[in-house]
Amino acid sequence: MPEESRAVIIIFGGSGDLASRKLYPALFNLYRRGVLAEHFAVIGTARRPWSDEHYHEVVETAIAGLNPEPAQAHAFAQHFFYQSHDVTDADHYITLKNLAAKLDDQFATGGNRVFYMAMAPDFFETIASHLKSEHLLTDVGFNRLIIEKPFGHDYASAKELNDSLTATFDDDQIFRIDHYLGKEMIQNLLAFRFDNTIFEGIWNKKYIDNIQITLAEAVGVEERAGYYEKAGALRDMVQNHVMQVLSYLTMDKPKSFTTNDILAEKDKVFAALKPYDLATAKANFVRAQYVGAEVDGKAVRGYREEEGVAADSQTATFVAGKIMLDMPQWQGVPIYIRTGKRLTRKSTQLTLTFKPVAAPLFGQSADSKPDTLTIYIEPSEGYSLQLNGKALGTGLTIEPDELRYRHDPKAAAAAPEAYERLINNVLEGDQTNFTHWSELSASWHFIDAIQAAWSQEPNMPTYPAATMGPQAAFDLLSRDGREWFWQPHRVQMAD
Ligand code: NAD
Repeated sequence: MPEESRAVIIIFGGSGDLASRKLYPALFNLYRRGVLAEHFAVIGTARRPWSDEHYHEVVETAIAGLNPEPAQAHAFAQHFFYQSHDVTDADHYITLKNLAAKLDDQFATGGNRVFYMAMAPDFFETIASHLKSEHLLTDVGFNRLIIEKPFGHDYASAKELNDSLTATFDDDQIFRIDHYLGKEMIQNLLAFRFDNTIFEGIWNKKYIDNIQITLAEAVGVEERAGYYEKAGALRDMVQNHVMQVLSYLTMDKPKSFTTNDILAEKDKVFAALKPYDLATAKANFVRAQYVGAEVDGKAVRGYREEEGVAADSQTATFVAGKIMLDMPQWQGVPIYIRTGKRLTRKSTQLTLTFKPVAAPLFGQSADSKPDTLTIYIEPSEGYSLQLNGKALGTGLTIEPDELRYRHDPKAAAAAPEAYERLINNVLEGDQTNFTHWSELSASWHFIDAIQAAWSQEPNMPTYPAATMGPQAAFDLLSRDGREWFWQPHRVQMAD
């Protein structure tokens, strides 16, 4: 049985989409597993004037998809309290503080507080400064802040935000969410890399020709145009998720599996990002925006036709780029990344292509392919290793064979979801799977240079919906004599 956590959890944005879709189900799963039991309370705040009873219904509806026992769902909901709250009104923080103190007594939570900013980022600084000025942090117990993305929109705004948060919270009290770090297969990367003899020694420039990172979404902008118009694919996906995945793929073995040792190795990767200037950024990063297309007989709208998107929007919904690391073990190994909306299929997958053997016994066969290792992050979870073997028959023809492993989909579905793991980490005070300021600042510097180069380009290139992006994304690799390993329209290893 896991150890029970004690805390009053205050969610700013308790009536929002994130709270209902992710946070309440995650909290309920922690309750089912006994991580949360008797000694916790959740205060949901938002502007709407809800009653506690109504809030209980909202929470029970949000967890209905988990098929809870009705009595357990009801008992869980009794831990939830609603406080109508305008984040700009100082008096509301006093009310909130008093309610938190009362619940602290009622549920014996030991003065522990978790403050969860599940609201638009414009409010993060306002909330943090009021938490300080109205003295919401307790003197006994822990005080932890969970903050959602986006963390700034460039280096300067990220720094301003970080300064304002650290005026209220110590750095080790701040948990910056990058939900990719809560995913099963991302957490698995370090185990896979460092607990397998066959990979540990070959994970470097001597054996690896190139690394590819694809985070493909099939959906369009959906209801998030207000946010996405200002962000675009570079800020929304590359600055955080892609960079975090890249660091896990390329970092050296940490001295131990502790937050500080892992961060020390990740920091070396972030420090080694070869910066681009305006000209090299343009040459090594491509962007584009999806336009309407007919997909499976149905018309799919282009980005500029989506609700809330400007008719002349200059927001990129696709990015591909080549990243080089200035580290001895990775000199000359390109890391190709791509991400976008309305691509052919949803898939997050990472591929390492190995160098060919120096002197193949059977000569350079046209049928042999470089060895490749693909790590599937989502929706399927597992690995594939493509190797050369002899084709069945009397001759000696080389053909690629696949070693394939996938987690059992049922077992994978029953494993904790990213938010459940991450909230659990916060309750334990474990910062390993969160983003640190050093990583953020380095990645923003890198991203800002690309953004600056693009802002000089008046025309936004396009790609048809349900494709893998513009031709320029393919040219980026073909000019280096390479190609994307995953090309979903091709018949190749199943993903
Ligand atoms: P949302 O718009 O659905 O919810 C916002 C919440 O803030 C609502 O509860 C609203 O009532 C409250 N609010 C707005 N103005 C307020 C004010 N002046 N005072 C008090 N409350 C106010 O937003 P969301 O989609 O839940 O996103 C919340 C945060 O999570 C954002 O930072 C977003 O970028 C991040 N995020 C969301 C998702 C997602 O899947 N929804 C995914 C990743 C990150």
